[in-house]
Amino acid sequence: MGEPVVYKRCGRLAQDRTCPDLADEGHGSWYFAIQVLGPSGFRERVRRGGFRIAEHALQVARERAAADASDVVNAARIVAQWLRHWLTILQPVCERTRQGYADHVRIHLIPGLGRVRLTELSPVDLRRFFASRVVIQMLDTFCRL
Ligand SMILES: [Zn+2]
Repeated sequence: MGEPVVYKRCGRLAQDRTCPDLADEGHGSWYFAIQVLGPSGFRERVRRGGFRIAEHALQVARERAAADASDVVNAARIVAQWLRHWLTILQPVCERTRQGYADHVRIHLIPGLGRVRLTELSPVDLRRFFASRVVIQMLDTFCRL
């Protein structure tokens, strides 16, 4: 997904990376930025900093990119993995709502659809899932909230 970008920055001028002191060896730290394929199948930008040496940032970036490449080859990501990931990236809603989503994922969605490969999830799977009594109970619970 492209070569990693390595750059140096400091916290003093967050808006402007051209701090005049960045040429000093002990000032600021090294960062990398790479494009990876996220669990949802879309490209995501990963950025990490805090490296003292540029080569170290580059090495970690290449390791991360290699891990990503092997993930792409192993495109056997299943719905359960994606749902667990989704819970971690969920924008902060109120705690009760977040817990409600987590419960529905754990109690209904993962048992019902969790083993299906994300790339093979079909309308038939969803129809079967929505037709199950479990979902009727789930929707009933949602409507009462
Ligand atoms: Zn600076």
